[in-house]
Amino acid sequence: MKLRIPDYIKSIKPYKPGKPIEELEREYGIHGSIKLASNENPLGSSPKAISAMQAAMDKLHRYPDGSGYYLVEKLAGKLGVDPGCVVLGNGSDEIIGMLTRALMQPGDEAIMTEPSFLMYEIMVRSVGAEPVFVPLKSLFVDLDDMAARITDRTRIIFLNNPANPTGTIISKDEFARFMEQVPEHVAVVIDEAYIEFAADPDCLDGLAWAAGDRAVAVLRTFSKAYGLAGIRIGYGVMPGELAELLHRVRQPFNANALAQAGACAALDDDDFLGQTVSLVRAELEFLYAGLEHLGVNYFPSEANFFLIDVQSDAEAFFEAMLRQGVIVRSMASYGYPEYIRINAGTREENQRFLAAFERVMKHSI
Ligand SMILES: *Cc1c(COP(=O)(O)O)cnc(C)c1O
Repeated sequence: MKLRIPDYIKSIKPYKPGKPIEELEREYGIHGSIKLASNENPLGSSPKAISAMQAAMDKLHRYPDGSGYYLVEKLAGKLGVDPGCVVLGNGSDEIIGMLTRALMQPGDEAIMTEPSFLMYEIMVRSVGAEPVFVPLKSLFVDLDDMAARITDRTRIIFLNNPANPTGTIISKDEFARFMEQVPEHVAVVIDEAYIEFAADPDCLDGLAWAAGDRAVAVLRTFSKAYGLAGIRIGYGVMPGELAELLHRVRQPFNANALAQAGACAALDDDDFLGQTVSLVRAELEFLYAGLEHLGVNYFPSEANFFLIDVQSDAEAFFEAMLRQGVIVRSMASYGYPEYIRINAGTREENQRFLAAFERVMKHSI
């Protein structure tokens, strides 16, 4: 083909998702595998969300409500913000793209940590803008270093709290000091995909900033704590002036009808949320103890996943775990060639993980 592809599109490395269970079982001819690679909810989906989606099934010949009226109202009420501050997305991933489309043009810069969630880089490059990477310091975000990299061309700073893939957090005080150094032409995005799991009282609460007069946008999702990753629904909370810009570049029916119904009901499902958070916290402790018993280094996390130092090639370790029917995530593409990341599963899944881990570890020594 003779297409004239922009160089910035050629510079995008395709996102490599966690391996789906079906694909593993097809390729290896095995059954009963487990997946701890995509930070999904071990308890499944909110039951209230499932009933609401089933009830919404007979209206699928209609376009969804393009304004997402009920979900936006419900979120605004729950979060104590004006409905004009809430933007729905086909997953919070989509809102990252709306932000780069609304705020960036070729040559502009967005600051992010390295590693961070790969979608920030992809969405920045897809509008011809440049990612500026700031290394982590012992797995923590170095906010002073990030502030030092701001220029006239900076349009967005992406923060992720708790951070994927490290599980570390930004404290309230650190962030307040950071904001003093951020000029008003820069939007600060706080991706809170895992905020429901954070237990540390010092953890930054982005909402305290998102409806004020600074250009701060908080991103949240129903994919993790509410177990709705497959239906694709997330949201952003930001000053109305910024939300209005996102609506200009948003597809009119981006939040689908089932997702809107499911998310509305999920917000009423405090039982499911509570069970999820307590299971995740208890199972992380179980996994930490199991790894300590094996003498393996890991990094405690404020999210539903954590990093493990396998002290050998992470890609090979990942492959060996696949053969045991356990899908983990190699961190090689994130710049950690000897780390893997797993999320907390059910007790049974975690026991299987630890048994497989021990076999692979002993085998590769
Ligand atoms: C999982 C995740 C999201 C959520 O993505 P959705 O598109 O809402 O499923 C956002 N940011 C980070 C860092 C994540 O890990």
